[in-house]
Amino acid sequence: MSKETTKVVYIMGWGRSGSTILDNVLGSVDGFFSAGELVHLWKRGLIEGRRCGCGKLINDCEVWSKVLGPQFGDASPAHGDPRTIVSYQKQAVRMRHTPRLLSQTPGRLSQSSPLAGYASVIQELYVATAETTDARVVVDSSKEPAGAAVLRFLPEVTPFYVHLVRDPRAVAYSWGRAKLQLDRDSPMEMVKHSAFNSTVSWTAWNLAAEAVRRRHSSARSLLLRYEDFVADPPGALRRITSLVGEEKAQLPFVDEHTVRLRPNHTVSGNPSRFATGTVELRKDNDWLAQQDPVDRLVCTGLALPLLARYGYPLRPR
Ligand SMILES: [Zn+2]
Repeated sequence: MSKETTKVVYIMGWGRSGSTILDNVLGSVDGFFSAGELVHLWKRGLIEGRRCGCGKLINDCEVWSKVLGPQFGDASPAHGDPRTIVSYQKQAVRMRHTPRLLSQTPGRLSQSSPLAGYASVIQELYVATAETTDARVVVDSSKEPAGAAVLRFLPEVTPFYVHLVRDPRAVAYSWGRAKLQLDRDSPMEMVKHSAFNSTVSWTAWNLAAEAVRRRHSSARSLLLRYEDFVADPPGALRRITSLVGEEKAQLPFVDEHTVRLRPNHTVSGNPSRFATGTVELRKDNDWLAQQDPVDRLVCTGLALPLLARYGYPLRPR
């Protein structure tokens, strides 16, 4: 009898595209568990001691202490030194590794390679997370296309990819604003990006996310615009639950634009992950009136080849 696999929904896209709120809404769907940006578990969570979405340190959290505990055997991530796993990530799972990850044949990995080491740890983590939380679907909002490409190497995982894209001008405006990291004991300001840097990365990350989607059948992925998600949140959620074969899962909406967010155990993400309870989902349009015109011109020029493809107008209104 073949072993049942764990369903993983991996959210891909450049930062400030709305992945944290999408992740939190998905994590509140019946049968789904949101792990947040799992890629940061080792460095931010275990080495830097940043807090889980529940407010506790990762090692003290009721979920992660079990997932990382000894009951999952020698393959448990708890048995690896977090620094070793961070070094696997640096050697094999960075943005520049994406083409190689997509062209390599699963099953032909050298067992001593950093990629094989990382694949074994992340697979164990997905499986242990689903088992501990009784979830049918684990959501990973790590965003990185290279991390998404690693899912090809996990025989015990059935991956689904949500490619989330947002107007690059709204994204650049968000990266230019000060935001505090709330998961540290003394909050620090998050990194900022210029309009130029944000849009170059937006282009590169979206092209890489498209390459990941092309590598899989269309039945395994979908493209979601942030603007469409906030215009019709239940509609967007139904697309995702249908993608993963969970059409009957109960959605957490109070009305068309209001969602009830459960307390979560996201290991990392945007500070908005600490929001729980009843939350209204609405389009954030401040950038339309407040963005520097030169920044907007830079974003529009750089993103031009992809703007039309994602249905964004030359002159946003
Ligand atoms: Zn927690």
